[in-house]
Amino acid sequence: MRDFFEGLADFSVLLAVLYGATVAIYFLLGHGITWLNNRNPERRIQKNRRGEKRKAAEIRLSLASIFITCLSVAIGLFAQHRGWTLQPWQFSWWTAAPLFVLCMVLFDAWFYFSHRLLHTKYFYKYHLEHHRSVAPTVWSNDSIGLVDTALSQGFYAVTVFIIPFPPAILLANRLFDQINGTFGHAGFEYFASKSARYPSPMLCTTYHDQHHAEFKYNFANYFSFWDRVMGTISPQYDHRVKTFEQDAPAISLKLDRVGPEKE
Ligand SMILES: [Zn+2]
Ligand SMILES: [Zn+2]
Repeated sequence: MRDFFEGLADFSVLLAVLYGATVAIYFLLGHGITWLNNRNPERRIQKNRRGEKRKAAEIRLSLASIFITCLSVAIGLFAQHRGWTLQPWQFSWWTAAPLFVLCMVLFDAWFYFSHRLLHTKYFYKYHLEHHRSVAPTVWSNDSIGLVDTALSQGFYAVTVFIIPFPPAILLANRLFDQINGTFGHAGFEYFASKSARYPSPMLCTTYHDQHHAEFKYNFANYFSFWDRVMGTISPQYDHRVKTFEQDAPAISLKLDRVGPEKE
């Protein structure tokens, strides 16, 4: 019994640390990218919509959804620590890069198929909340219903029983997903380039922005691979990236303009 309570206390501390750190990163990225956006108004993807008016509602839901995401990570790490899972591989800098990429590839596949499921008739009610943001902003990444989050972020709680990723790799993927997702919802394009369109499997902010604006395309998270294979990529995507590349090349990034964009 004492062991049980000690375990519970350890788990609660782990969860609290993960939650505190994620919330701090959420606000840091949100304010940081907003600062950048205000200096680069010509990079706005949906020129005629202002998703910013949903900021308060998005932050409220994010604070709950981040808890579910952290719960999944805490379950995975705690189960590993207690020896209930496969014995995790020893971390080494030699294998860190390939394991990180493998984790990204698997997470992306998990995300794609769970996201497709969330767009079916029976599950869409759980996903609806995230799609209230038609023009996503830096605050939209975690503005997700709780069942939806459990499904799309449940990866960490499950994967430890199948693949013995070192905890550092799982945490690195979580951190990268948080950064990638915030830029992916920012509503401003900074990454349009050759490497973000066919035949490259990489993508840029326009990708997920189109998912919010057009709804039926671009379900993947990190790579366009699954959408291309399954025929769910927007037929306009590659063309739009090319147009953005010409209109707002990365080299023209501005950092010095003062004052927010005029509404
Ligand atoms: Zn969706
Ligand atoms: Zn989204």
